[in-house]
Amino acid sequence: MLTLDGVTVRFGERAALDAVDLDVAEHETVCVLGPSGSGKSTLLRVVAGLQPLDGGRVLLGGADQAGVAVHRRGLGLMFQDHQLFPQRDVAGNVAFGLRMRGASRAEQADRVRELLELVGLPGAERRAVAALSGGEQQRVALARALAPSPRLLMLDEPLGQLDRTLRERLVVELRSVFAQLGTTVLAVTHDQGEAFALADRVVVMRDGRIAQSGTPLEVWQRPASEFVARFLGFEN
Ligand code: ADP
Ligand code: MG
Repeated sequence: MLTLDGVTVRFGERAALDAVDLDVAEHETVCVLGPSGSGKSTLLRVVAGLQPLDGGRVLLGGADQAGVAVHRRGLGLMFQDHQLFPQRDVAGNVAFGLRMRGASRAEQADRVRELLELVGLPGAERRAVAALSGGEQQRVALARALAPSPRLLMLDEPLGQLDRTLRERLVVELRSVFAQLGTTVLAVTHDQGEAFALADRVVVMRDGRIAQSGTPLEVWQRPASEFVARFLGFEN
């Protein structure tokens, strides 16, 4: 589904991404984990087409994305700093990507109803987004990202602003939504609990490079380096 082949991004002297190779298979959930500044957000921006490359290639469904506009990549984006549209109600937010594609009103209404049920907000169409709790707003943002059936859903610290208990609950719900829809997911977090609960595969980054990639169990049981072990909390 997604291939990064030697992707390099520099800011001055510093490589935010240093020849990164990564493959994400269809229906797979990959969580990118790593300390602040390790290049996680840059990785997502590169895939989204929001960040020019200094080297390498990004392929989606086998096609090189060089020169392909952001809105033509077939992605769903849910970034921490992406706010809902406050002047629209819940349905207006969820239907955003469908309107852009010219879906009929009836199609929009059906899809919105289906998605709100899926994210645990049945019947919330006419609610004002300002009146929603933080957790409810995250669910609406998720429904909005999923509405156009993206071939790849990308999440950047999606639950970062929520409290611990709510995050743990939402992670379980996210996993079930992705399984039901067969969504391919590339998610970024600095929270290992979140990554381990959500991911089929975990990728640990350090200084713009992949320090380790494996199933949560593999990474947990056999950290590839002292850095990974320390990052996972095996202090000694
Ligand atoms: P993370 O999301 O893992 O915290 P980022 O991808 O945001 O890391 O950043 C990786 C590195 O690139 C950091 O050193 C950061 O300071 C640098 N960086 C990211 N974006 C920019 C930018 N627009 N201009 C300059 N440096 C940047
Ligand atoms: Mg980041």
